[in-house]
Amino acid sequence: MSGALPQFPYYADPIGDGRIVRQDITCGVCGLARTWAYVGGIYAQEKPEALCPWCVADGQAAARYDGQFQDADFSEEASAESVLAVLRQTPRVVIWNPIFWPDHCHECCVYLGVLIPSESPELAAASDVVAEAQALARNISKQWDAEDILECAESGSMTVHLFQCRQCGIHKLSLDGT
Ligand SMILES: [Zn+2]
Ligand SMILES: [Zn+2]
Repeated sequence: MSGALPQFPYYADPIGDGRIVRQDITCGVCGLARTWAYVGGIYAQEKPEALCPWCVADGQAAARYDGQFQDADFSEEASAESVLAVLRQTPRVVIWNPIFWPDHCHECCVYLGVLIPSESPELAAASDVVAEAQALARNISKQWDAEDILECAESGSMTVHLFQCRQCGIHKLSLDGT
């Protein structure tokens, strides 16, 4: 069974990130033969069998395994609805440590991927990204500024996750370890 893949409003490119791959499976939740598999994993007691992207998107996989896809913190500004969708209907973001999932305009932001400045030079130089990097830097040390964060992102000594507001388009960053 094929057809268009489901939409993930809080994860921009789950195929590019390898969370969803072309693979013939029989989904352990819906029982359907699928040509795409979700291979991003879920935080749950029981290890799931094969999962299809559709059962991730509609929340059936999370419901079946009473699990969630993210190990993340959220602010109280983010709508409960969007937090639930990120936790239970969004492919897992690969992290080293639990991350803060940014929000803006009262909604969780969409995950764009790991920021590698040399691969997205315009983005890394954009004023909203630099402002975010500056704020993160100041949280670490008074001696640090945006450039230090972007250098760490480039060298891989820190993982910097890039997000974007679904409403106004502003970029947000979230720091992770290595
Ligand atoms: Zn399924
Ligand atoms: Zn916004």
